[in-house]
Amino acid sequence: MPNTVAIKTSPEDAVAFLEVLAVAGVVLDRLNNVMANTELADEMGLVEYGRLASEELTDFAARARNSGETLTEEISFARNLRTAKIELSVRATALDDSHLILVVEDRTEAKRLEDTRRDFIENISHELKTPISSISLLSEAIQVAVDNPEQVKKFAKNLQRESKRLGSLVKEIIQLSRIQGGDLAASVEPVDLSTVISEATDLNQFQADSKNIKLTVNVPEGLVVLGDAELLTMAMKNLIENAIVYSNEDTQVGIGIREVDNFAEITVTDNGLGIPLDQQERIFERFYRVDPSRSRATGGTGLGLSIVKHAAINHGGDINVFSRVGLGSTFTLRLPLLIETDNSSGEEQK
Ligand code: ADP
Repeated sequence: MPNTVAIKTSPEDAVAFLEVLAVAGVVLDRLNNVMANTELADEMGLVEYGRLASEELTDFAARARNSGETLTEEISFARNLRTAKIELSVRATALDDSHLILVVEDRTEAKRLEDTRRDFIENISHELKTPISSISLLSEAIQVAVDNPEQVKKFAKNLQRESKRLGSLVKEIIQLSRIQGGDLAASVEPVDLSTVISEATDLNQFQADSKNIKLTVNVPEGLVVLGDAELLTMAMKNLIENAIVYSNEDTQVGIGIREVDNFAEITVTDNGLGIPLDQQERIFERFYRVDPSRSRATGGTGLGLSIVKHAAINHGGDINVFSRVGLGSTFTLRLPLLIETDNSSGEEQK
């Protein structure tokens, strides 16, 4: 058998060639009857009763035939009214005088990623604008109030708050794009959850003290996961910080771990504002806030929980919330435990 396939060849050979390349391909005759197609084309539902399954595809084939050149177009395609549309990139070229070959690539997932990325960039630009314009206004105000020390002091304090906000926004954006890019593998190591939680608690202690909120930590040592210590600490810091920010003064925040079926279930419980049921799904989206003005006033970026969610997913875990308005919230971060096989003494290696 020859191991090369000529381009100007029979419909069957052309399709056999595309089959080897694992792409979706369809060969049409002059009347747009399907002469041959690859398995993938069937799986994608491109062919129906010996014809192309979509009018857009048929129109495109006609245009390509008329142009006499190789054409490429993006085409949205729904197999039927009940199935979701898929995004195709279709390339058509003449196989010979009467046959046209379509090579089809499913770009739905790539397009979804592009859209997500574009949304992300648009959201970021929007979110960055607020502190940047505040900083610019405040610095003008300081210039005008130069002879009034009290006002200068007040504006300078606000300036500091806005630049801090800008700083945390940038830091969180970098973290988020890092984990969204799946760039974890390099920093994966056994991580003791008690260390993560004690660091995350320390990072929030000042804020808790300033609202007289007691942080109660009940976490055993020796529960180890395979992961990125910095990212897990950041995720836990965000959960504890939210519990403090969205609680009244003189309350309590509890942090605990349970081991369930080789998973660590880390809970952060507050007696704070709570979250309305219909918004509990959405709070994990980037920049989503239940009460935007409150979140901004407390320096929130709207990114905290989406970092937690991505950190959970990247570690093979998940994040859930149980919350009632006026009563409080419990966030549960579940992470698969690293089970040590040669640890007969029960001691943790570090
Ligand atoms: P933010 O920076 O605004 O806190 P997050 O992504 O961390 O952003 O949280 C998204 C939204 O979820 C918050 O704006 C807040 O409305 C709500 N939220 C998060 N944690 C809690 C909590 N413990 N109690 C009440 N509401 C919360």
